[in-house]
Parts: sequence; C-alpha cells; structure tokens
Amino acid sequence: MAQYPTKRLRRLRLNPLMRDLVRETSLTKNDLIYPLFVVPGEKIKKEVKSMPGVFQMSVDLVVEECKEVESLGIPAVILFGIPNHKDEVGSGAFDPNGIIQQAIRAIKVNVKKLLIITDVCLCEYTSHGHCGVLQGENILNDKTVSLLAKEAVSHAEAGADIIAPSDMMDGRVYAIRKALDYKGFQNIPIMSYAVKYASGFYGPFRDAAESAPAFGDRRSHQMDIANCNEALREAESDVEEGADMIMVKPAGAYLDIIYRVKEKFGMPTAAYQVSGEYAMIKAAGKNNWIDEERVMIESLIAIKRAGADMILTYFAKDVAKFLDNN
Ligand SMILES: [Zn+2]
Repeated sequence: MAQYPTKRLRRLRLNPLMRDLVRETSLTKNDLIYPLFVVPGEKIKKEVKSMPGVFQMSVDLVVEECKEVESLGIPAVILFGIPNHKDEVGSGAFDPNGIIQQAIRAIKVNVKKLLIITDVCLCEYTSHGHCGVLQGENILNDKTVSLLAKEAVSHAEAGADIIAPSDMMDGRVYAIRKALDYKGFQNIPIMSYAVKYASGFYGPFRDAAESAPAFGDRRSHQMDIANCNEALREAESDVEEGADMIMVKPAGAYLDIIYRVKEKFGMPTAAYQVSGEYAMIKAAGKNNWIDEERVMIESLIAIKRAGADMILTYFAKDVAKFLDNN
C-alpha cells in the first residue's frame, strides 16, 4: 500500500472539476418527493406557522402547485388531507368524495407528468387524532387494518399512482395489497412507511396536518427511537407482505437505520426528512446562524449517502431550483 509522501489524498480535492469527477454521491431532481397538505374550500393558501414556506392549500391551489412542481422537474408529490369532518373511525379517509380523492382527481385532469403518492392513515380523519379505531385508549389493530385497506382502494379508484401506508399497524401492507389486487389495481405499488419512529421531530407536522392526538401519544405503534434490530424486523415484515418500496422516517437522525435497511434488503428505499428537520434548518437559516441553502443540500446528500434512493422533503422545490442554477 502506498504511503505518504507518495499517497496524498488532497490531490483529488484541489479544484472543483477534480472534486466533481470523483464525487461519490449525487443529489438529483429524480430523488425528490414533495409533500402537500390539502384543505377543503377554495382559494385557500395558509402558511404553516412552524414550517415557513409550507402551506395548507385548497384543491384548486394544490393543482396550481402541482403544475409548478411538474415544471420544476420533480417526479412525485405525496398528499396529506385535512377533512371538513372528523369522526371516531375516520370515515373521511375512505369517502369517495373525501378531500384526498377530490385532490387526486383534480390533479390528474390538469397535470400529466407527476406521480401522486397518497399517505394512508386514519389520524388526520379521526376525531381523537389517533391512527386507528379505538377501544378505550387502545388502537384495535385488525379493525384499523381493514379500514386502511378501504382507504387505499379509494385512493386508487380516484387515480393515485402509489399507496403509502404510514400507520404502523401490523399486517397492513398485506391487507392493502390484497384489497388493491382484488379491485384490479395489481399494478399500483405500495411504498410502506416500514420503519417509523415515535419521534419528537414530527412536531410541526401536527400543525400542518392538524392531527395531534387528543390524549396519549403514538408509542403503542410507532417504534422506540432506541431500537435498530427491530427496524430490520419491521422492514422485513413489510417486504414479505409485498411492499414495493420501503421508507425510514425520520431521516437525518436515523442515517444508521437507512444504511442498515438498504444494506440488508436492497429495496428501493425512501427516507422522510420530516417537519422538525425542515423547521430547524429554516429557523437557523432565518437567523443567519447557518447558511440555509448549504445545510439543506448537505442534509439531503447525507441521507442519500446513507443509502436512500429517494427523499420526501419540504425542500423539494428549493432543491430543484438550486439544481437548475448550479
Ligand atoms: Zn397516523
């Protein structure tokens, strides 16, 4: 093995062209998925206080937003719905005229080159804000799973391209796959939130999706932040049940998990750079404590370097613009 002074690692860092030539990880527009929050009404565009630059939008304006996202060259959006009406079982989630179903149909009419991913869970639709049907303070797994399957089918019927269950119930990927196939949607892929931690980084999202639980928290179904082997078992279940892509959420503080999941399963792997990750970079950037653009890119490159093939990020539009100009 060559040693110093013949070996000099700095040789390949001495100018930008050389650095470009040997760079190991790249970030491209094809890696980006942009989350959108849909609310009832018309001409509504309301900024989420804890997430500057992120808005709740009515269907008409979500369509306009999707046109812009398409023109920026971002391949996919993921939709979250805030319904007019919430009830015990979250029936807005599988209403054929629900907020997400309306949004999908309207986007599909107006925007051709954009994949629509839909988040499948009940927490945005239940009056208690929990991810499933309750008995006392317990979430009933199997009853919830059958409603999630109904929700997934209803999204597919409206025109969704990819179904993304985020609930963390056991057996939901299999139930959703079976229900989709039964209704003739064999070709719609499932991107499962396979490894989703009970994380404090979700704080701002709860404002955006108006889905904070009325009591308790989500630790009975989301994963313990301290566990890693369990993450592999969660991912394994979803892969065995028929997930086409798997996700790790959050991303930035869980790079080891992304790395291990990608290493072990070699599946198309998504990572969700969540609201709190975005909010921290935004807030520090606004205060000029960090260079926001630089840290934005660094945070996303790190997620790709860990092994993610695609990233759900609120920065997607900013990144696309950055890539156009650099
Ligand atoms: Zn949920």
